[in-house]
Amino acid sequence: MSDCTFCKIVAGRLPSHRVLEDEHALAFLDIRPASPGHTLVVPRVHARDVWEISEFSHGKVADMVHRVAALLKTAVAPDGVNVKHNAGEAAGQDVLHYHVHVVPRWHGDGLRLTWNSSPASARELEKVLERVAAVR
Ligand code: 5GP
Ligand code: ZN
Repeated sequence: MSDCTFCKIVAGRLPSHRVLEDEHALAFLDIRPASPGHTLVVPRVHARDVWEISEFSHGKVADMVHRVAALLKTAVAPDGVNVKHNAGEAAGQDVLHYHVHVVPRWHGDGLRLTWNSSPASARELEKVLERVAAVR
């Protein structure tokens, strides 16, 4: 995709701070990091989101996420890490090339990646499972 920012980064037509790369995926530092070491992992082949990316390509990105998390654990010694993908505007996706955020976390860092939730009844959970089972 000639107009896609992350395709341009993959092709080297835009600069990036590369953390790791292989034949299928690339990891580079987020230009607006939520925390020191915040890294994005993307497939080399353009796909918009988790619904569009192939299972193969998704697997290759997941492998690199695993390697990046290990690298960052040693490099910046975080207390934890968030691994996150946003798909669609409603979920906060801004760049429409599949990417996984790897965000190192520290106690008291003040980042808010949480949501409000409440317990569901067994019946509510079963109703969701019925809908999934109908299309599985
Ligand atoms: P999203 O909201 O789509 O899940 O996240 C997009 C991320 O891409 C943001 O965290 C943003 O800072 C990052 N980003 C956007 N443009 C660029 C860029 O040109 N270079 C880099 N390294 N990161 C970018
Ligand atoms: Zn792209």
